[in-house]
Amino acid sequence: MAHIQLDFDAYQHNLLYLGKCCGGIERLIAVFKDNAYGHGLSQIAPMAAAVGVRLGAVKNCEEAHQIDGLFESILILADLPTQASPDSWIFAIHSLEALQNLPPNTRVHVNIDTGMHRNGILVDELESAFKICSNKQLKCEGLFTHFHSADVLSSDFFVQKERFEAMKPIAIREAKKFGYENLKFHGANSAALLRESNKKFMDDYARCGIATYGYTDLPPSLGKHDLRPVLSLWGKKMSSRKIEKGDCVGYGATFEAPASMVISTYDLGYGDGVFRYNGKGVLRVANTKPLLGRISMDSFSIEGEDDEVCIFNDVREFANFFDTITYDILTKLSPFLLRKVIRSS
Ligand SMILES: *Cc1c(COP(=O)(O)O)cnc(C)c1O
Repeated sequence: MAHIQLDFDAYQHNLLYLGKCCGGIERLIAVFKDNAYGHGLSQIAPMAAAVGVRLGAVKNCEEAHQIDGLFESILILADLPTQASPDSWIFAIHSLEALQNLPPNTRVHVNIDTGMHRNGILVDELESAFKICSNKQLKCEGLFTHFHSADVLSSDFFVQKERFEAMKPIAIREAKKFGYENLKFHGANSAALLRESNKKFMDDYARCGIATYGYTDLPPSLGKHDLRPVLSLWGKKMSSRKIEKGDCVGYGATFEAPASMVISTYDLGYGDGVFRYNGKGVLRVANTKPLLGRISMDSFSIEGEDDEVCIFNDVREFANFFDTITYDILTKLSPFLLRKVIRSS
């Protein structure tokens, strides 16, 4: 059967590497949103816990429920509680309005808009934010931001970082007025953490997603990093056949055999979340053989007779071909695919 393999050793390696970059694995918030970037939340989260990760981040309460009990705290990035929630849950809050509607005792980290202009409150609104927290009896425990260009060779990242640093003393002062102390600060995602890995880490936590799974979109000029892809995608042979010169393969007959050849068809397709190759241009699977003809909903063909074929063990090949980012290829993978955890070493 088609399946995903998850390499525990690669994942452990990445987590420990990133932990080093931020001054200790206890500072790492491993991001598991969107089914752990398509890897499979229920396989990835226990692995992270086994490696020593104490903090996880997910998209919503549904995902938080799935990993309840594995971590000291779970940061919920894009959902709000309507009733009292488990003690370990912390909600990322993106506006003053959202603060107004939380049940008492909710733990919150408030997003500060330092330039991304999607979400977050302004520094000028900090006083109002703490006032609301106090009135509503919320537990305001941290402030965070998100960088829009951490992986871009420009000064934008530094401008945002400066704003975040400048905000910290103001926040601490305003918080104190309302009895809030020991605020935690976090700004960095994978790219920001790796970009600054040669400098002293200035925050309490770093929120890393893509790098934990083995990828970075940082240009090499911003540092080279020893990360290992965690996921590989495999198809199982359904049948083999010999075709003759001029025979076509697949829907639309986009591939025409230049000579007689033996081909096999495997049980994986765009219905499993693999991007749909339309037969134009050359797209190669991990063993470097090109896909022959279009990908069907549940199958694809390549030359040869191997019983199992790895489609990719490094999604950059697909990301480049489809002119998109590694995140996009990974998060599309179907949650219904079988996941197997392996040890590579
Ligand atoms: C997804 C997400 C991250 C992780 O980003 P990566 O680039 O995958 O490291 C960090 N912070 C927030 C708020 C996110 O939504």
